[in-house]
Amino acid sequence: MTSFSELGLSEPILRAISAENYSTPTPIQAQAVPHLIQGRDLLGVAQTGTGKTAAFALPILHRLSENRTRPMPQGARVLVLTPTRELAIQIGESFATYGRNLPLTRTVIFGGVGQNPQVQSMARGVDILVATPGRLLDLIGQGFIKLDRLEVFVLDEADRMLDMGFIHDVRRVIKVLPAKRHTLFFSATMPPEIAKLADKILTDPVRVEVTPVSSTAERIEQRVMFVEKADKRPLLGEVLKRPDIGRALVFTRTKHGANRVVEQLGQIAVRAEAIHGNKSQTARQRALENFRSGEIRVLVATDIAARGIDIDGITHVINYDLPNVPESYVHRIGRTARAGTSGIAISFCDSEERAYLKDIEKLIKVRIPVVEDHPWHSLGGVVQADPDARPPLQDRRPQRHGRPPQGRQDQGRQDQTRQAHGQGQGRPAQAQQGRPPQGNPSRRRSGR
Ligand code: AMP
Repeated sequence: MTSFSELGLSEPILRAISAENYSTPTPIQAQAVPHLIQGRDLLGVAQTGTGKTAAFALPILHRLSENRTRPMPQGARVLVLTPTRELAIQIGESFATYGRNLPLTRTVIFGGVGQNPQVQSMARGVDILVATPGRLLDLIGQGFIKLDRLEVFVLDEADRMLDMGFIHDVRRVIKVLPAKRHTLFFSATMPPEIAKLADKILTDPVRVEVTPVSSTAERIEQRVMFVEKADKRPLLGEVLKRPDIGRALVFTRTKHGANRVVEQLGQIAVRAEAIHGNKSQTARQRALENFRSGEIRVLVATDIAARGIDIDGITHVINYDLPNVPESYVHRIGRTARAGTSGIAISFCDSEERAYLKDIEKLIKVRIPVVEDHPWHSLGGVVQADPDARPPLQDRRPQRHGRPPQGRQDQGRQDQTRQAHGQGQGRPAQAQQGRPPQGNPSRRRSGR
């Protein structure tokens, strides 16, 4: 696995990355950075959430600092063109973060606010200019910005520029840039008009494509359990008793949540450790090592901390909290089922998280089957029925307190329903074999 130090980045940049607690480059970073350091043009097919900002910001900072020249008054050495004000601000902040140990100047320009501070910030020129197209053209038109000495041009979210009607503005900006420059082109999708533009403005580009996140979920067996927030804690303890759980990665939304879960598991003698941004690099490394070696069976993580985790043999991903960003769900469950192995993802969903579940299902285009019957009932727990009556999936754990089998007729109906939702394929044999429902259904609360 590639580490940041192998990518060829300079020491001040590596220090900044380390301060951010990034342990491993994301796939787009690992693939793009070495080429960009060499000055190659790049066509990046990737969306937000893949780490693409750092994929271009890190090598750009590296090259700027290796080749120190002063920007011209009203000029910029680098232009990043992005469709929205929010993205512009975020990208500006990323350059500030990764470039914190470098004496480089930057500014961000967007519409909807007064232009004077922006004009002033450009008066002496900057190393890095991040801008949205409309205001940039406006200031170029008024003679406040000159881009004829630009060295690097980054076009971010090109397909969104097209969707938002900015593509003509983008072409007008390109016209004022010098022909000899280093160009990086990013787009999540490649509609013909965007492919044509890329072809026109890139010279012998390296193409880097990171798989759209929605497709990685297909190999993983997914389930959801509807549960009250207060019941999540005992339910987790119960679920972790399953003998088929080899290595479980448990996700919480917050750092405090992760610490709490570790503490609570400790009370029922389940050894677990947490990794999140508040933990020192050494503590995170130690936790990962213990997890890798099998010393601990359960690792509790937050989304950002888990990005770099590349550990084989994670049999289960448990979403103790559902993520509010649907892409994070896909990143989370992608930690299991690596290298062609199978994996199981179980999500606890309380009533406040139903909207998150809907967003996730929209993204992955799969209705996640619900586990309604679980031995948990027999322990006095309550797992709620599916409020939208989705196809139920019986728990696979060997039966302990069950009702007698209900025969094939029922199962036939279930399989049909599942197939109607596009989930009939690839189910594990046991789950398709008509397991009897377990537990005491009278304890089950119906959906609200
Ligand atoms: P982006 O796709 O550029 O919007 O990045 C998504 C998020 O991932 C941002 O919050 C970054 O701070 C974070 N991030 C980027 N690269 C890494 C990495 N190598 N390790 C951990 N987090 C990262």
